[in-house]
Amino acid sequence: MHVPLYLWALIAIAFLAIVAGAIALKAFSRRVGESYPYKKRRSLFTESEISFLQTLEQAAGEDCRVYAKVRADDVLSVRPLPDRKEWLGAWNRLRGKHFDFLLCDPGSFAPVAAVELDDGSQDDPHRSVRDDFLERACMAAGLPLVRIPKENRHSVSGVRQQILEDLDELDVDQPVADSPGEEGRETDSTPVCPKCSSVMVRRRINKGPRTGRMYWSCSRFPRCLGALPINNS
Ligand SMILES: [Zn+2]
Repeated sequence: MHVPLYLWALIAIAFLAIVAGAIALKAFSRRVGESYPYKKRRSLFTESEISFLQTLEQAAGEDCRVYAKVRADDVLSVRPLPDRKEWLGAWNRLRGKHFDFLLCDPGSFAPVAAVELDDGSQDDPHRSVRDDFLERACMAAGLPLVRIPKENRHSVSGVRQQILEDLDELDVDQPVADSPGEEGRETDSTPVCPKCSSVMVRRRINKGPRTGRMYWSCSRFPRCLGALPINNS
């Protein structure tokens, strides 16, 4: 069978086009691989972080939403300063830092407390500078920072108790309860929960530097984190 010349030419052109296309595709995919050399991580968290997060979520219940690895500059902002350089310096120190976990009010998303899982790396000098900075920054901003030592298994009630104690500590220092009406209400009769208006009950702090102190705790505990200081000094 005789194949006309123009058919040979067409076959040759088609062949060349396929070869050229394959070479171009290979070059393109290699370039994509070089420009975006990424792979998906197996998980956002280590196994111990996952276990702690699950406990923390149970401890927070419906009172708070729990977020993890939250940028410090999403939680804290730098207040206006007359000196722009000082402002930038403060902002730069905040930038790039993260909180391990953050508890937020479920309605307003206001930060309630930062939670750090201390895994022993705080002894590393770099980490301890970071820890120190965040602790002071939170204190200045009035955000409780709860440090929970890493354990093999955290109990929901233990984590909750520690969060309550640290929130309570902030309540004592804050001028919120300083108005005479509020104080009178707390010392004389049983107060109502500031979060859910339920009755409050006296509870004793069982661990930490404030062991033995009494405080008002929401009767819906552990479903509600509401707490108030008792002026029993
Ligand atoms: Zn309550």
